[in-house]
Amino acid sequence: MKACYPGTFDPITNGHLDIIERASRLFDEVVVLIMVNPRKTCLFSSQERKQMVEDCLESIGSPKNVSVMIGSGLTVEFARKINASVIIRGIRAVSDYEYELGQATANMMLAHEIETAFLIAKPQYSFLSSSVCKEIALNGGDLLNLVPLKVIDPLNNKMKEVAQHLKSEQVNI
Ligand code: ADP
Repeated sequence: MKACYPGTFDPITNGHLDIIERASRLFDEVVVLIMVNPRKTCLFSSQERKQMVEDCLESIGSPKNVSVMIGSGLTVEFARKINASVIIRGIRAVSDYEYELGQATANMMLAHEIETAFLIAKPQYSFLSSSVCKEIALNGGDLLNLVPLKVIDPLNNKMKEVAQHLKSEQVNI
């Protein structure tokens, strides 16, 4: 069975990577879908996000059945296009569940042949989000154990650019 794991992955965290690794043991094929959403402003470009996910797969043993693609539009349409019959999503807390339930129900109405499968976050990652990691990086905190090693430098470098930009904005005010 082929599954896709859609998300923003801006950037990929250890929580995402854990879901990918577990999904690769459950399904014949897993496609990580880097979604481009014009309503979301991302720190990294879709190409950068894709590259980071690819770079990080090594740390979970480069599973042969995992690939990475960039997608846009409706997730179910993309899933249909690549013949995936399952959409994987991660759940960290009740707040995720409420949101995900709405999404999964809408997807069920749009594409009854596609199922959504939820994997719950490992306890050590249940607080972890890309946003938390970006906030920590912006304030010079330690990212070890939060994001894969391959993400630490790109995230810190990107945040240095952001911090520089913020500083120049303040000077101009
Ligand atoms: P989106 O914008 O689609 O929510 P994210 O990259 O934030 O994209 O998350 C993609 C999926 O991964 C979502 O289902 C989210 O709940 C899940 N996820 C995010 N962080 C974690 C984590 N630490 N552990 C498990 N699942 C997670």
